[in-house]
Amino acid sequence: MKQQLSKLQAYQPGLSPRQLKEKYGFDGEMVKLASNENLYGPSPKVKEAIKDNLDELFYYPEVKQFDVKETLSNMHNVKKEQIFFGSGLDEVIMIISRAILEANDEIVTSDMTFGQYKHHAVIESANVRTTPLKDGYFDLDAMYEQINDSTKLIWICNPNNPTGTYLPHDEIESFIQKVPDDIIVLIDEAYIEFATAEDMPNSLELLSQYDQVVVLRTFSKAYGLASQRIGYAIASEDLLNQLDIVRLPFNVTSLSAVAADAALKDQNYLRDITTKNRIEIEKYLNASFSEHLYDSQTNFVFVNTEEPQMLYDALIKEGFITRPFPNGVRITAGFSEHNDQVIKVLESFFNK
Ligand SMILES: *Cc1c(COP(=O)(O)O)cnc(C)c1O
Repeated sequence: MKQQLSKLQAYQPGLSPRQLKEKYGFDGEMVKLASNENLYGPSPKVKEAIKDNLDELFYYPEVKQFDVKETLSNMHNVKKEQIFFGSGLDEVIMIISRAILEANDEIVTSDMTFGQYKHHAVIESANVRTTPLKDGYFDLDAMYEQINDSTKLIWICNPNNPTGTYLPHDEIESFIQKVPDDIIVLIDEAYIEFATAEDMPNSLELLSQYDQVVVLRTFSKAYGLASQRIGYAIASEDLLNQLDIVRLPFNVTSLSAVAADAALKDQNYLRDITTKNRIEIEKYLNASFSEHLYDSQTNFVFVNTEEPQMLYDALIKEGFITRPFPNGVRITAGFSEHNDQVIKVLESFFNK
């Protein structure tokens, strides 16, 4: 076995609603607000598209020829050869790590960010350098100080999971300008469709200016397709040709691609969902306990508390499953009625 596996744990999905009901003796319906899924689900057109594509289940998927590649290429104004699919963005992160990192190479990222960057670096025997968040934000100056001759990858999660915070275009651009050309800068935009801030980075513009930039996106969050496992990278053709060597030949299913394509083509639905989401997020950000929240450009809020387990338990008792962290609890925005109930729990938690 690789020795470094002893330093890691398998991903812990958290208890299922049934397990939680038993553990806490809860009777009613449990609502899962733990993994930033989109409770509204995908566009109704996705179901239709899947139904219309059930006759060719026996063929292997032609991952490089998916229609959704053409749709994305037109939408983002990049060449088809600049788009690379994975079985979820998780798989793209794994493939990048596997293709690039050798023993003793280094990655740089932040503390309190998406765990998979670090996880795959460790599996590849690379070293991980992280810097603390600065008031909940990625600290690019501190990250810059961590760069050295062994640095291969720099991971920026923007907006960041689990804090929901983001860095604006100018800050990201001045950072990339300073980073040596041979270091790849990855911008994970899993939540970008939810973001409404005006100075949100235009990462595609950065990509057209700097060859070293990779933009990462997924259909699991705003597009409501977490079960379908499809995400993608947009990057230079040269880099993607290398990743293609590592990719399993049939890594993404045909139906996931069909679902993703239908979801992309229903931008009205997406706009409707993201507008509703923003209203819900602002309910949290304007609540009496807002000083305990990080600002959020996503579909979740991070509640800072020194007693995360107590808050987690208080929410479970009302039927809400959230995600505890050592310094707080991350709560996915559910439907309006869920959020109203969650906000009541938070109000009494911080008023006691
Ligand atoms: C959810 C998430 C992913 C992975 O998404 P999948 O496409 O479902 O694998 C990647 N990065 C961040 C920041 C996420 O929150």
